[in-house]
Amino acid sequence: ATLPYDDQNIFAKILRGEIPSQRVYEDDFAIAFHDINPQAPTHLLVIPRGAYVSWDDFSARGSDAEIAGFVRAVGTVARAAGLVAPGYRLLANTGLDSHQEVPHLHVHIFAGRKLGPMLT
Ligand code: 5GP
Repeated sequence: ATLPYDDQNIFAKILRGEIPSQRVYEDDFAIAFHDINPQAPTHLLVIPRGAYVSWDDFSARGSDAEIAGFVRAVGTVARAAGLVAPGYRLLANTGLDSHQEVPHLHVHIFAGRKLGPMLT
């Protein structure tokens, strides 16, 4: 079962502009900003504007427009950052075993170096 959405989570505060972030993109469905503790030369986070705890929650409850808008935003962010030619990795930790730390859906974008087979 998915936890109820906590509107005091750190990404909710970033969305509302209550705490600062280095924003690189925003549209009606998503915002993107630099991860505060980058694990690659480029490490961005893309989050939907809607109140969704996780990938599971979003894929179950999100509207078709929100889901399409979010998926398109992830691609747009990567394209705008020049990551298509060198390549990039997407990651969405989901739930207890995944090491998801912030309970607002976020897709990580990693790029800027040769990545290993997996990030552990
Ligand atoms: P998770 O482990 O939930 O998949 O990833 C959470 C990510 O959020 C981590 O990579 C962490 O560095 C990042 N993060 C946590 N707090 C903040 C913050 O206040 N600002 C930014 N920009 N990133 C954060």
